[in-house]
Formats: sequence, C-alpha cells, structure tokens
Amino acid sequence: MQLYDALIIGTGQAGPSLAAKLAAAGRKVAIVERNLFGGTCVNTGCIPTKTLVASAYAAHLARGIHYFKSGVQTRGSQNYDHTTTEQLHGMQLYLEKARQDLQDSLALDPKPMASYGVLMRTNMQLGDQAAVRTLLDAALKLDAHALSPRRAYMRSIQTRFGGSLQQMIDFVQSSGAAGLTPGQLAVLQQFVDDERKWLEARSGLPDEGAVASN
Ligand SMILES: Cc1cc2nc3c(=O)[nH]c(=O)nc-3n(C[C@H](O)[C@H](O)[C@H](O)COP(=O)(O)OP(=O)(O)OC[C@H]3O[C@@H](n4cnc5c(N)ncnc54)[C@H](O)[C@@H]3O)c2cc1C
Repeated sequence: MQLYDALIIGTGQAGPSLAAKLAAAGRKVAIVERNLFGGTCVNTGCIPTKTLVASAYAAHLARGIHYFKSGVQTRGSQNYDHTTTEQLHGMQLYLEKARQDLQDSLALDPKPMASYGVLMRTNMQLGDQAAVRTLLDAALKLDAHALSPRRAYMRSIQTRFGGSLQQMIDFVQSSGAAGLTPGQLAVLQQFVDDERKWLEARSGLPDEGAVASN
C-alpha cells in the first residue's frame, strides 16, 4: 500500500496549485479527478465560453455587414423613381436579416461600437430614423467618445435623408463638447463640408442666416 502526506480531491481552481506547492515542499501528494482535469473553468466554463462569445460576436457582426452591403447593392444607386419594386423588396429582405444579426451581436461584446454603426445605417436605409437616434444614445452611454456611431448618425441627418446642414453642424459642435479628439472631429466635419458641396451642386444651399435659424 502506498502512503501519501496529502490527498487532494478534484483538479479545479485550487487542487493543482495546492498539489504543486505541497510537492515543492517535499510532500508526497496524490490528486484524484473524477472527470476532466482542470475542472469547470478551463474545460467548460470561463475560458471556452469567453472564446465562444467573442467568436459569436465576430460572426454576427461579419454576417450583418455582409447582409447590409448586399441590401445596398441590391437596391442600386439610382433614385427612387428609377428603382424597381423588386430591387426595393430585395434590399428590404437583406436589411431585415442584417438588422437581426447586428441586434443580436450587441449582447455579445461589452462595447460593440462597430455593430452600432452598421445597425444605425441599416435602420437609416429602412427609414427608421427614431431607431437611429435611440441606438446612438445607447452607444454613447457605453462609450461617449465612439466615432463609428457618430459617423452613422451624421449620415442619417444629411439633407437627402430628412436632416439638415444645421443639424449636422450642431452635431459636430456637440461632439466637440463631448471631448472628441481633433482627428475624430475632422472626420465628422468632412460630412459637413461634403454636404455643403452637395447642396451647392443642387443650388440648394441656404444662406448663412437661413442655416442659423433652422
Ligand atoms: C459557463 C460558465 C462560465 C463561467 N465563467 C466564469 C468567468 O468568466 N469567470 C469566473 O471567475 N468564473 C466563471 N465561472 C465559474 C468558474 O468556472 C467556477 O467558479 C470555478 O470553476 C470553480 O472552481 P472549483 O475548483 O471550485 O470547481 P470546479 O472547477 O468545478 O472543479 C472541481 C473539480 O473537482 C472534481 N470533483 C468533484 N468531486 C469529486 C470527487 N468526489 N472525486 C474526484 N473529483 C471530484 C470535478 O470533476 C472538478 O474537476 C463559469 C462557470 C460556468 C459554468
């Protein structure tokens, strides 16, 4: 019969390190495991679930982006009058799928800013401006300095989508007050500059007074 100084039951969090310490101190140690060496955390708990959740986030985000792009491509770039019902219906189908994947992805990452950005653009394409604003607020609560949702919001308040130049200018100002870096603000300011050019090209730029009073 073998004799031991210590018998450790289970190889979870404490067992292996206790066994190592006792062995290092010159004790003869037996360790007994009835199932998987390493216990719950390394085999079926913390580590596998964290890896799976991270992978699931990436998968949902990637598929959501794919559906979003497919929807935009299916619609095409012509204006509404030159877009067929089939194109619009096809876009709708893709965007609904994108919305589902991106919405699901939000629960799989502590700061899913890329998901927020594409989800906002998806809702914008679906004409749900209220959802865009709600998502922006939710994203900024998690990360007040996030750029991706702010960029998506800037797109959604362009004149062609029912917003205005003044709204865009105001949003850049409020982003500055929120502490965005000069580089981030330059990205947002570019939307304002492009919008001015777009309006000018259509001779629709209101004079400064009209913009300020909007
Ligand atoms: C899905 C999931 C996710 C988790 N995520 C996290 C996390 O992110 N962060 C965190 O801190 N915690 C997390 N946990 C909890 C963490 O896994 C446990 O708190 C930790 O594993 C407990 O360690 P333990 O050593 O007490 O038990 P266990 O790891 O369960 O180890 C006990 C070991 O003893 C063995 N055993 C029991 N009885 C006998 C016996 N009579 N004879 C021989 N062997 C025996 C078992 O087979 C097992 O291997 C998670 C748990 C789960 C289920």
